[in-house]
Amino acid sequence: MKKKQFKTESKKLLDMMINSIYTHREIFLRELISNASDAIDKLYFRSLTDSSVAISKGDYAINLSADKTARTITISDNGCGMTKDELENNLGTIAKSGSFDFKKENESTEDVDVIGQFGVGFYSSFMVAKKITVRSKVYGEDMAHIWESEGADGYTIEECDKSTFGTEITLYIKEDTEEEKYSEFLDEYRIRALVKKYSDYIRYPIKMPVTKQRLKENSDKDYESYTEIETLNSMVPLWKKPAGEVSAEEYKNFYTEKFYDYEAPARVITQKSEGTATYSALLFVPAHAPFDYYTKEFEKGLELYSSGVMIMERCADLLPDYFSFVRGVVDSADLSLNISREILQHDRQLKVMAKAIEKKIKSELSKMMSEDREKYEKFFDSFGIQLKYGIYSDYGMHKDVLEDLLLFKSSNDKKYVSLKEYADAMKEEQTAIYYAAGESIEKIEMLPQLEAVKAKGYEVLYLTDDVDEFALKMLGKYADKEFKNVTAEAADLSTDEEKEKAKTENSSSEEMLNAMKEAIGKVLAVRFTTALAKHPVCLTSEGELSVEMEKVLKKMPGADGNLPKANVALEINLNHPIAEKIKSLYETDKEMLSKYAKILYNEACLIGGISLENPGELCELISELMV
Ligand code: ADP
Repeated sequence: MKKKQFKTESKKLLDMMINSIYTHREIFLRELISNASDAIDKLYFRSLTDSSVAISKGDYAINLSADKTARTITISDNGCGMTKDELENNLGTIAKSGSFDFKKENESTEDVDVIGQFGVGFYSSFMVAKKITVRSKVYGEDMAHIWESEGADGYTIEECDKSTFGTEITLYIKEDTEEEKYSEFLDEYRIRALVKKYSDYIRYPIKMPVTKQRLKENSDKDYESYTEIETLNSMVPLWKKPAGEVSAEEYKNFYTEKFYDYEAPARVITQKSEGTATYSALLFVPAHAPFDYYTKEFEKGLELYSSGVMIMERCADLLPDYFSFVRGVVDSADLSLNISREILQHDRQLKVMAKAIEKKIKSELSKMMSEDREKYEKFFDSFGIQLKYGIYSDYGMHKDVLEDLLLFKSSNDKKYVSLKEYADAMKEEQTAIYYAAGESIEKIEMLPQLEAVKAKGYEVLYLTDDVDEFALKMLGKYADKEFKNVTAEAADLSTDEEKEKAKTENSSSEEMLNAMKEAIGKVLAVRFTTALAKHPVCLTSEGELSVEMEKVLKKMPGADGNLPKANVALEINLNHPIAEKIKSLYETDKEMLSKYAKILYNEACLIGGISLENPGELCELISELMV
């Protein structure tokens, strides 16, 4: 019998396919099962209009079996089958897809939901098989045909016997090599796991004889093996069921099993969309961050299904970085799959879906915030940082999506407050949203400038994460109110009268203050202030960069000496006895004044949470004063 050559470029393509298109060999089974499911769909579709096709729906099935001795895997279906011509056309030419033609002809029929659209899936079996036979018989025909090929050098088609209609494909698995253990695919457990992973939601039962153990008759300790046909797939995807029909328990089990979490999700999100993009999504907000969440190793993404067949484990394009903690599955019937299910076109469809998913996640998180505050705060403890990075990244492009999801601890009992809650509770005369930044709430509460703002009855946001102040700078304003750092010059809440008093004092003591500035050498200015309550001194920053921001920048990997520095001034409390003391020193002992200046500067650093550049010098100065 004459061997036929694959058509045109098929040979080259086939080689390329076998060697490079698919990254995981294991997907061959998914491809064959999807084809079988498509074939059953086609016969079922035919039965709707052709009364000569008499099969009850419950009889459709896909059968798998593996034979370790013969090194074969067989997969059979009772679907539409293929004529000789179809075998020739569908399997003789790569990239000619029967499913695609079928879909075109039946464009208007909503009932058909055919998985395969481009024809190379079948050939992926050559990644694991050295030879493939396809025996096929069309329903109602007498004649069956067998297609046989050992790969790129061609194929044969002959008549054969086959009692049942449908298609039976046998893969002759390659011998094991040093690198590749093809035998794994003959293993019952491996096959079962692959079906679970990729084809769990195929609509027709996928059956396989499974080895089991039972006690021998009349024995209480001797076991014998027997086989039983088992259905491997669960068939109905949870996300296709109406949300009302699924219990919380079912969602929890699905989530914990699928995403290897021990804790129930904080929130379950279901979405069904029709129109520009048709898809169902079942998403979960985890209750806690996975151990690798804040590492480079973490990969975001949703599991992507095309009509119930898993095509991508982590589709990153479906989730923005700031929602990267969300897990779940998205199933769509109208994705364009090019070349293979493996390589998904990054198309418009996907973008439309991603946009709608983002919107949905946002609205669900807002709901969670208002419906179950305690849960939301716990969520925010785990993932809040990610949301704040989201505000800061991409030049603030996403701030509208995210600003109302933020929480900050505040001076009101150190409890979480949202920006909206803060703004709604603002005093009438209050013109800005005040915040203070530091390593911890305890340290923030020591900031000298905090007192005056709190004394006014204004709430102060406590920023303890590195990203916080950068995020607020990116926001700029909220509800038309500017954000102000209490340690910034602009946050001085003294009355005009007090400010005038400080101003007069500063100009009459100009020489003394300059001398102090010279002695310290690290500040922009030394001046009197009326903005402090009981603290003698503080550091106040001028301009955009605060002391805390400078600290954060210094910590960044790759930071060098060229970083911008915060401009700070040393401010002395005009109402504190120290003010009089330095004035008298200026008259009597200028040398002592410069020592005082240094001590006061260091004191301001300490209380402001800034590490001292030269602790030794401070210790010496203090000891000197003590003896
Ligand atoms: P795709 O499934 O992407 O169309 P394949 O290379 O996997 O491409 O299959 C090519 C074609 O062969 C299919 O479109 C279908 O027409 C036909 N085919 C494959 N498997 C079967 C089967 N089990 N029963 C009937 N037809 C099949």
